[in-house]
Amino acid sequence: MHNDIKEVLYTEDVIKKRVHELGQLVTETYRSQAEAGEPIILLSVLRGGAVFMCDLAREIELPIEMDFMAVSSYGSGVKSSGQVQIIKDLSTNIAGKHLIVAEDILDSGLTLTYLIDYFRASKPASISVVTLLRKKVENQMPVECLGIGFECPNEFIVGYGLDYAEKYRNLPYIGILKPSVYES
Ligand code: IMP
Ligand code: MG
Repeated sequence: MHNDIKEVLYTEDVIKKRVHELGQLVTETYRSQAEAGEPIILLSVLRGGAVFMCDLAREIELPIEMDFMAVSSYGSGVKSSGQVQIIKDLSTNIAGKHLIVAEDILDSGLTLTYLIDYFRASKPASISVVTLLRKKVENQMPVECLGIGFECPNEFIVGYGLDYAEKYRNLPYIGILKPSVYES
C-alpha cells in the first residue's frame, strides 16, 4: 500500500467485480435500444472518470460510441470551488443518441447537475448516469443514477482515477488519503 494512504476502501478485485456488474446493468438497460439500432454513447468526465469509463466500456456488451469532456470545479485542493468550468467540450453531436455519463464520484452533485442540464440542450434521446462512487454527504444535490458502484464515506478519496493535486490516479485500488498529505 502507498505510504500516503490511510485505508484501502475498495481493492482492485472488488472494483473489477463491481464494474462488471455495472456493465451488465447497462447492457440489460440498453439492449432493446441497441437492437433497434439506436445509437448509444458513453461519456466520461476527464480526468477522474476516465479510468472507470474505460473499464466499464469493456463490460458493456453492446455497440457504443465513446467521448470525453473535461470540467474543473476543484482546482488542486480538496474542497470544490463551487463552480463548474468546461475545459474541453464534447467532440460528438449527441442529438438523438442515448447518453450514458460515467462519473468517478458524486460528491456535492454540482458537476453532474450542471452537466446534465448542459447536455439536455443538445437534445440526446436520453441521459443516464453511472457513478462508481457516491459520497455520503449532507445536502448533496439530488442526481438520479442508473447505477452506483459504492456508497463511500465522506473522506478525501484517491486512486482508480481519483487524484489529489494530480497524484494517485494510477493506484489500482481506492483509498482514503492521509489528511497529513493535504494539511501540511
Ligand atoms: P461534485 O461536483 O462535488 O459532485 O464533485 C465531483 C467531482 O469532484 C468528481 O468528479 C471528482 O473529480 C471530484 N471529487 C469529489 N470528491 C473527491 C474525492 O474525495 N477525491 C478526489 N476527487 C473528488
Ligand atoms: Mg470528476
